[in-house]
Amino acid sequence: MARYTGPLCRLCRREGEKLFLKGIRCHTEKCGVERRKYPPGQHGQGRGKLSDYGLQLREKQKVRRIYGIMERQFRLYFEKASRMKGVTGEVLLQLLERRLDAAVFRMGFAANRREARQLVKHGHFLVNGRSSDIPSHLLRPGDVVGLKESSKENPTVAESLSVAEHRGLPEWIQFDATALKGTFVRIPTRDEIQLPVQEQLIVELYSK
Ligand code: SF4
Repeated sequence: MARYTGPLCRLCRREGEKLFLKGIRCHTEKCGVERRKYPPGQHGQGRGKLSDYGLQLREKQKVRRIYGIMERQFRLYFEKASRMKGVTGEVLLQLLERRLDAAVFRMGFAANRREARQLVKHGHFLVNGRSSDIPSHLLRPGDVVGLKESSKENPTVAESLSVAEHRGLPEWIQFDATALKGTFVRIPTRDEIQLPVQEQLIVELYSK
């Protein structure tokens, strides 16, 4: 599956807000949005007011960028969400939070979602005791994600865990720092996900 490999700060600047794609740096004055508060590119400073379509498009791009999902796969998530019970926009965000890479990031094993995805792809994790190297693996309530024995000394993971406390654990995750295992306790509510997005705009965009 293709993925964006360009500069991350550029994505935040395009959306005009912090998407916290890097980790610690996002909380410092080196943050790209703090330093340059205008969109990237030659015409970045000359962009005017957005149309309704533009607002919907930007909201969709923002969520895609936060979770590092390409357009085609994102559309599939939307279609799956619209077939499931519940409010489509909320179910969409819940599906994204159920991804293994999202849970690995939330548990503090990685400094950001891109790193989490890479760690998963490199086969460092077990789900319910079985190896999984698929970032889009959808977790179910009660699933346990743990580091493989051979990965417990991984320096990237160790560094992330050492600073993960400042982020805090979300309500739907439990973490055992001794066993280096986390449990995806339940599907989060929309309020708990705490993302600055208006998901109903994405629903409007795709419902045209
Ligand atoms: Fe975004 Fe983080 Fe870069 Fe700031 S430092 S622009 S929040 S990725």
